[in-house]
Amino acid sequence: MKACESRSILARAIAVREYMVTARRAIHHRPELGFEEHATAQLIADRLHALGLEVNTGVGGTGVLAVLRGDRPGPTVALRADMDALPVSEETGLPYASACPGLMHACAHDMHCAVLLGVAAVLKEFISELRGTVVFMFQPAEETDGGARAFIDAGILAEHDPHAVFGLHMWPDLEVGKVGIRPGPVMASLDSFDIELVGSTAHGAMPHRGRDAILAASAVVQGLQQIASRNVDPMEAAVVTVGTLHSGKARNIIADHASLTGTVRTLGEPVRELVAARIEEVVAMCSRACGVESHVKYDRLLPTLVNDKRMCQIAAGSAREILRPECIEQTMPSMAADDFSLYAERVPGCYVFFGCTAPGDVAYPLHNGRLSPTEDALPMACGVMAKLCMDYCQYSAAQLPGQSEPGRQD
Ligand SMILES: [Zn+2]
Ligand SMILES: [Zn+2]
Repeated sequence: MKACESRSILARAIAVREYMVTARRAIHHRPELGFEEHATAQLIADRLHALGLEVNTGVGGTGVLAVLRGDRPGPTVALRADMDALPVSEETGLPYASACPGLMHACAHDMHCAVLLGVAAVLKEFISELRGTVVFMFQPAEETDGGARAFIDAGILAEHDPHAVFGLHMWPDLEVGKVGIRPGPVMASLDSFDIELVGSTAHGAMPHRGRDAILAASAVVQGLQQIASRNVDPMEAAVVTVGTLHSGKARNIIADHASLTGTVRTLGEPVRELVAARIEEVVAMCSRACGVESHVKYDRLLPTLVNDKRMCQIAAGSAREILRPECIEQTMPSMAADDFSLYAERVPGCYVFFGCTAPGDVAYPLHNGRLSPTEDALPMACGVMAKLCMDYCQYSAAQLPGQSEPGRQD
């Protein structure tokens, strides 16, 4: 029964390939930045309406939410796709390349939207067998850190109360046909810091009359690099990056002001707290040694994205049945961040990575102007995600007393 169902789900996913390709190319051609995804949301809402789903627009800003109710009782599963593009100039030369100069779907969110539309189309056809409800979350503004929070603040999780949440990301480091599923931390926490250093000016020839903010900034940059190398356990992961440093007005004036900004990534709360505390201490001590005042603004933006072990087992089982047993790769965690972590923090979830590089192709990284995921990944991702919904509902329904149907062999 189960193998038969897998084959028919994959067959339907292959049958809706063109449906997904046309959606993906239309979205790709007209990329929109976070919270500006008006045309993208319209296209998605139109298609979901046409499938006969319950559709809400303007969710959390420009988001779209749709609900598909199976014919049989069961749990609620949420699926999430992100919709926003990036301020990147496209260099692919594709016929459907971005028509908006300086904007591109360089993180493959166009593919994610197309996959979820495909899943909706496929599950619609299996509605009589679907035990539960699937909530499709087309979320705005993943790249600018605000979309998932806006969705949650709009009460989506509270209203639909999903038992599980699944998301996907195209992953160029994996060849198409491979699926990356890893329990535990998979994407990093995201924090930011702004440092202000205040000294006093003097003639560049008489430095002893001033307090040099540039010298303090240099000490701070060096000191911050010692946190990951000397404070964090070498078996843990942490990145402290100073991305900007501005200071000074003229070659012969001791600078009285320096400002630095940076980002912090970790894969767990204890390390995250350690790094945050050490940044405060290192900045205070380094600047004090230079006689300069310091101020640190530290913002905790996103938690580590942690995949639930049981959800990963279910997802891996679905992927093996739809593709082939050896399709699963235990990808390394990424120090990039994704706001899917906010859902996974509240609801057991799994973020699934789909290979999207054709054999022999160059794997341009995400956020690169030449990123060109193969559309062969669409039916594969669609089949796996649709099967995952069916499998989770089946698994979960079997856990609930009174929900199981004795005699069924599926
Ligand atoms: Zn991105
Ligand atoms: Zn992304």
